[in-house]
Amino acid sequence: MQKVEHIGIAVSDLDAANALYERLLGVAPYKEEVVAHEGVRTSFFRVGPTKVELLEATHSQSPIARFIDRRGEGIHHIAFEVTDIRAEMARLRAEGFQLLSEVPRQGADNKLVCFVHPKSAGGVLIELCQSIEPESA
Ligand code: ZN
Repeated sequence: MQKVEHIGIAVSDLDAANALYERLLGVAPYKEEVVAHEGVRTSFFRVGPTKVELLEATHSQSPIARFIDRRGEGIHHIAFEVTDIRAEMARLRAEGFQLLSEVPRQGADNKLVCFVHPKSAGGVLIELCQSIEPESA
């Protein structure tokens, strides 16, 4: 794995959270994006070499809505950048980690993503992400 690519934070009101994090971080979000199949609306802030991703549920059955129902707003996942997501998924599977999808999925911010179940990762939802070259997106 490479660096921490971003930290994902579940929020109940993206517009309010954007204003809060803009004051906190001293920068405005550089993009907002809806990922319909994940049921989320996201925004991204650059913080040095890494990013903060805010996630708001777009409907009540969204994983983010269920997370906030159970645990409230807060840190939702940590995303690690990988250069070959399929190889990394195979390595983690062989190590006994439980992955949430069989194949990488299209995520926000022009990424292929896969999640590791928090039950197999010490209570932390881990995201693997690999950048997609703009030409092949
Ligand atoms: Zn993420």
